[in-house]
Amino acid sequence: MGKFAEADAQIMKIAICRKCKTRNKSTVKKCRKCGAQAMRPKRRDIRAKK
Ligand SMILES: [Zn+2]
Repeated sequence: MGKFAEADAQIMKIAICRKCKTRNKSTVKKCRKCGAQAMRPKRRDIRAKK
């Protein structure tokens, strides 16, 4: 768990397109930019200190 609960909540809502790395809402099925369906959830474990 991060230090800021609100930030964690925001991060959990983000999905990254594997194709163009655009940030999308995790609720969407397709990338808003390129339309790719290859999405991954944004990992908050890494870069925790940044
Ligand atoms: Zn994309």
